[in-house]
Amino acid sequence: MSDSPPPPVVIIGGGIAGLAAAFRLTQIAPATRITLLEADDRLGGKIRTETLTADNGAQFLVEGGPDSFLTAKPRGIGLCADLGLLDTLQGITPQPHRAYVAWGGTLHELPEGLTGLVPTKLTPILRSRLLSPRGKARLALDGVLPAQTGTEDETLGTFVRRRLGDEVWERLVEPLMAGIYAADGDLLSLQATFPQLRDAEIRHGGLAKGVLAARRSTPSPSGPAFKTPSAGLESLVTALRDRLAASGVDIRVNAPVSAVMPPDASSGPTVILASGERLDAEAVIVATPAFVAGEILATAAPALAEDLSGIAHASSAIVTLAYPTPRAGIARDAHGYLIPRALGSPILACTWSSLKWEHRAPDGYVLMRVFLGRYGQEDVLAQDDDALIALAVAEVQQRIGALGQPVLARVQRWMRGMPQYLLGHPARIARIDAALADLPWLALAGMAYRGVGLPDAILSGETAAERVHAARIFRTGVGISA
Ligand SMILES: Cc1cc2nc3c(=O)[nH]c(=O)nc-3n(C[C@H](O)[C@H](O)[C@H](O)COP(=O)(O)OP(=O)(O)OC[C@H]3O[C@@H](n4cnc5c(N)ncnc54)[C@H](O)[C@@H]3O)c2cc1C
Repeated sequence: MSDSPPPPVVIIGGGIAGLAAAFRLTQIAPATRITLLEADDRLGGKIRTETLTADNGAQFLVEGGPDSFLTAKPRGIGLCADLGLLDTLQGITPQPHRAYVAWGGTLHELPEGLTGLVPTKLTPILRSRLLSPRGKARLALDGVLPAQTGTEDETLGTFVRRRLGDEVWERLVEPLMAGIYAADGDLLSLQATFPQLRDAEIRHGGLAKGVLAARRSTPSPSGPAFKTPSAGLESLVTALRDRLAASGVDIRVNAPVSAVMPPDASSGPTVILASGERLDAEAVIVATPAFVAGEILATAAPALAEDLSGIAHASSAIVTLAYPTPRAGIARDAHGYLIPRALGSPILACTWSSLKWEHRAPDGYVLMRVFLGRYGQEDVLAQDDDALIALAVAEVQQRIGALGQPVLARVQRWMRGMPQYLLGHPARIARIDAALADLPWLALAGMAYRGVGLPDAILSGETAAERVHAARIFRTGVGISA
């Protein structure tokens, strides 16, 4: 028997999914050798927190990608707890901060009582001028329309239109959904995005009845719906990096991977870096975007790779702007506003970061994030940064009045940054799972498969680590930690 140590588990991709995979492996199998390879010169992937200083010296905490995570999904909070970061978390500032929707040349307050995208309170809807009387009447039909039979998936847009009507879709549900997926809801799979809405229809007929019943049976956790570390999300990445380094994980940045070769009779899989370096691996976790995973696995698992490469992605950008606190009233009582796709604008939304989160801007300033680009409306990103800033500035001024020039402007682009769970996604995931069942040396992690938000990306990494560990026990009869 050779004395040489076993090859490492190689994790490809140092975003939150890859980092969570590595961390979970150190927890369940502390003796495992782990190498984490990241293409970029930094860890964190789409998590990018910067402290930026304006020309006048004012400092701002700017999130270029995600700015928080949902507390109802356990693994955002759970990972923070595992890392001892719970005390550093802050909640989103509570109401009376409201959200608005742009429609008909003005901003309308989003009616209260939206539960899981569905309006459930009659009075705010009746009072709102966002919907016409006809749109309100059509919404009321939800209570009497029979549930559609059959098990076929359908698009989110088709489903909401047939239950709640076109107006509720275009003016309420579509803009809220686009804030999560940057998607065209008329192409998104209902089953892959909001299966609970179809459940509500089947079990209760009306969506409002259904989502309220679901809420009663599984009440949301108390406290804020969103949380984030007060120093920014990148502090989660730093904490993970430090814990992994202390556990002996070999973390390499500027280390793009170009291919993975499958195991053969005499050795395990081989990871090939773009530099030409080859690494023997015991198992491989691919935690890159799906289209990169498709390229990397093209030789080792061609059919699987084709399914991975087939997952569509939307490109978008966030333009962050800082202004001296504007006189305009909306900036004081709002978390921001949404722009429905039906208005034809390439801009999706604008949020007031410094009103959602404390300590983002010094007193006397407001920090805004303007979101540009969505699936099918990405041409806007061909423009240079100055043009995107000008567009964002014009957008904000058009809605809330003249604010002058921002004291700070920052553009963060996310080319092919948001996977699209299009109709057919559940079937694709089933094929991917079936292919993986024959490849026990391989696991996938990331936002492209079973949920696009941070808690799901974290869970995907942890699940991948557990899969690799379980396969090892099965192969050798001993745990990695033994
Ligand atoms: C604009 C935007 C806003 C968002 N806002 C929120 C939010 O507020 N809340 C929320 O919960 N979620 C939000 N999300 C989603 C969230 O960002 C993701 O769930 C999460 O960051 C995905 O992590 P990941 O590790 O799967 O992917 P990534 O962060 O993309 O990490 C993948 C990593 O793989 C690396 N890589 C790529 N190719 C290679 C290669 N060949 N070799 C080695 N490494 C490679 C990349 O450099 C990257 O570091 C947002 C996403 C976007 C784009």
